[in-house]
Amino acid sequence: MRDRRAQSRHSGAMKTAYIGLGANLGDPPKQLRAALEALAQSPGISLHKVSSFYRSAPIGRADQSDYCNAVCSIATSLSAEALLKILQEIEHAAGRVRGERWGPRVLDLDLLWMEGVISHSPQLTLPHPQLHLRAFVLVPLAELAPQLVLPEWGRVDQLAAAVDRSGLTPIAE
Ligand code: ADP
Ligand code: MG
Repeated sequence: MRDRRAQSRHSGAMKTAYIGLGANLGDPPKQLRAALEALAQSPGISLHKVSSFYRSAPIGRADQSDYCNAVCSIATSLSAEALLKILQEIEHAAGRVRGERWGPRVLDLDLLWMEGVISHSPQLTLPHPQLHLRAFVLVPLAELAPQLVLPEWGRVDQLAAAVDRSGLTPIAE
């Protein structure tokens, strides 16, 4: 973690962060709405914007249901580590059982990007290592932060315009 301020549980100033939400078991849009509500209720987190909800074809394993995905922006006084812990607690409360990577899940909350934070540890990699490759992250993120520049990859709107979005459909809410 290069950002020293992020090492304490409360890093002082409010920082912007983007969170990717996904689910493909149960009632996915309902689980996303519940997760957004849980985020909004969490101390130290203020929920700002929420993207459209999208249906997306699964990656990794094709023999699973389609996903519902969205991205939200928050402002938080928490460190990146403390925020990740809260995301994992919300996943757990939703009934997430840690199984195989890219397998079906009731809720997946990924920390995509956090203001001023770069991290290379396996427990917390920031920006999220798959961010620039995934239409189901880039397209909703581009709704909220088109001009965000990801250091090694470029501007979010340009990345979203270039990615294959054939498996992605907006869901009418
Ligand atoms: P995935 O989201 O890749 O399908 P999981 O949700 O099961 O997989 O997460 C696996 C691990 O990824 C977690 O234990 C977490 O510590 C780690 N991880 C690393 N970077 C991040 C990040 N930016 N956001 C969320 N989890 C992360
Ligand atoms: Mg995850």
